[in-house]
Amino acid sequence: MHNENLEDVGTTESRDSVKDRYNRPILSLRISLTNRCNLNCLYCHHDGMLPSDDEMTVDEIYKILKIAKKLGIRKIRYSGGEPLLRMDIVQIIEKTASLDFDDISITTNGILLGKYAEDLKDAGLKRVNVSFDSLNNEVYHRITSKNLLNYAKEGIIRAAEVGLNPVKINMVIMNDINNNEIKDMFEFSKEHNLVLQLIELIKSDSCEDNTFSDEHYFPLTPLEKDLEDIADKTQVRKFMQNRKKFFIDDGEIEIVRPVDNTNFCQNCTRLRLTPEGKLKPCLLINDNLVDIVTPIRQGKSDIEIEKLFLDGINKRKPFHEKVEE
Ligand code: SAM
Repeated sequence: MHNENLEDVGTTESRDSVKDRYNRPILSLRISLTNRCNLNCLYCHHDGMLPSDDEMTVDEIYKILKIAKKLGIRKIRYSGGEPLLRMDIVQIIEKTASLDFDDISITTNGILLGKYAEDLKDAGLKRVNVSFDSLNNEVYHRITSKNLLNYAKEGIIRAAEVGLNPVKINMVIMNDINNNEIKDMFEFSKEHNLVLQLIELIKSDSCEDNTFSDEHYFPLTPLEKDLEDIADKTQVRKFMQNRKKFFIDDGEIEIVRPVDNTNFCQNCTRLRLTPEGKLKPCLLINDNLVDIVTPIRQGKSDIEIEKLFLDGINKRKPFHEKVEE
């Protein structure tokens, strides 16, 4: 078996990017476009976002993106809620692409991807991650509360057809629910040239049933060891919490583990923006958000908005301490 280290796009040359007080360059911005969703997944942690009905407009997003670009941010990822519920999603991608970031991606449940994939690709979207946990109608319904498996599946296939690359499947593995489907999902991924990301279930405070994650937790470490044995090649994604990527029979599998470690914080180069326009310095901290859209709405100058953006960066502090200040 062949092993190698892999450095991700835009993460190596951090010279020109603004850094936080812990010397961590800010290289990516994850923008949650809405808290609305058309699925209701059993395990969902809602990406750490609190409910809101006051979403940013395209122009407001564009203004913030211009500052992000100026400060050296390289990668933009749109998420939610379900980002494709935004009627102006194609326009948002178009505006983002006009600023020439290294990477633009979306995390979606894929239900509306059949409708939008081609327009999104034409607008400048590079790649897409689709949350898709089962190929079985009953299991899919149990997880999402909706009978929409075929929409998600067709959306995924369409995304690959129009040339979004890579199309990654995000599959959260749950014991006694879908842990027996990994092989089938890998076959489906190989058939359509997709990358399969297996995600370890994270305990979620927002789950109605708190026992859910205890009952259905499925550790991925043993599987990782098995994959290492059978893989033709393994790569370690150095700036992505040392995530492992396995190449097996012309297919790719990545393992994604939860974030509760100091290593995660040390390597964190990501800032978040909530749907209502607040910069969120850390995924796991909710009391230090910086409102950047209200001042835009009040007509504050670009310099003042940039100062607020820098305030958000200055508030970044590792949740799991160990990084030298
Ligand atoms: N609606 C979009 C989607 O379905 O991809 C974006 C939002 S969703 C919250 C973003 C990602 O978080 C998905 O890939 C989902 O699988 C993952 N996720 C949510 N809750 C999780 C949990 N408790 N454990 C592991 N992954 C989780």
